[in-house]
Amino acid sequence: LIINVDEFRPNLEELFDISSFQHEMKNPLTVIDGTSQLILAKSSDEYIRKCAGIILNETERIKHIMQNIRMLSEMEIEYSEFNILAFLEELKDSLYVLFPDIKLSVQIEPSLENIIADRKKLFMAVNNLIKNACEAQKTGQISLYLSIDPTIKYINKKENWALPMLKISIIDNGPGITEEILNRLFTPFFSTKNRGTGLGLVIAKEITEKHKGRIEVSSTPGTGTSFMIYIPMMPTDLLT
Ligand code: ADP
Ligand code: MG
Repeated sequence: LIINVDEFRPNLEELFDISSFQHEMKNPLTVIDGTSQLILAKSSDEYIRKCAGIILNETERIKHIMQNIRMLSEMEIEYSEFNILAFLEELKDSLYVLFPDIKLSVQIEPSLENIIADRKKLFMAVNNLIKNACEAQKTGQISLYLSIDPTIKYINKKENWALPMLKISIIDNGPGITEEILNRLFTPFFSTKNRGTGLGLVIAKEITEKHKGRIEVSSTPGTGTSFMIYIPMMPTDLLT
């Protein structure tokens, strides 16, 4: 009896779902994690302890990458209304924990008060860009601008309406980005950093696009880089 297997088999992409992959990885990771913890607890040999520490760190890294991939694969936006100033304060706090020496200068359009977006996810998107700016900057300062861009609107031609766009710019005075690297940005796992995951920009882009927005970058090598997130200012009746 000869069976043509291809007739029965769905393609690999359909078979391969990320949550089951993550589930399969979880058990071995837990064992690696637990065993290294055990070594750390039992051994007093400095060298062995150091090795166990490295294993633990790298396991954390794998977990972190897998969490990010999972989040990317099943991202859903939950809109709520929130105050933009409180949002910025929280961003500053989170920045301070990682980069206590870097000053974030903020300029915000006075008319901006509350916005409607997925607060957690927008936070993550902006935070990823701020982190990159901090890693690139040279003078201990980065800037954040929040405004409504009057020149750009989110237009729905079919239903004949247009929404203003919120513009969030993150500006640094780092080395800038060469054209060759610029073309590779937003590619999963692309990183020029020693310990980079190359997922920060991919996540920021996905979050922005799920908000029906877009992300732009402009950079002058030697002078610095600006990343801009644009998302439509959703009307309050979206929530009702
Ligand atoms: P990671 O930060 O882990 O490297 P990202 O996706 O956040 O991953 O960024 C990818 C790459 O884009 C970085 O490794 C860096 O080369 C480049 N990049 C991002 N932001 C900046 C910036 N503000 N200035 C210079 N290069 C940047
Ligand atoms: Mg990054």
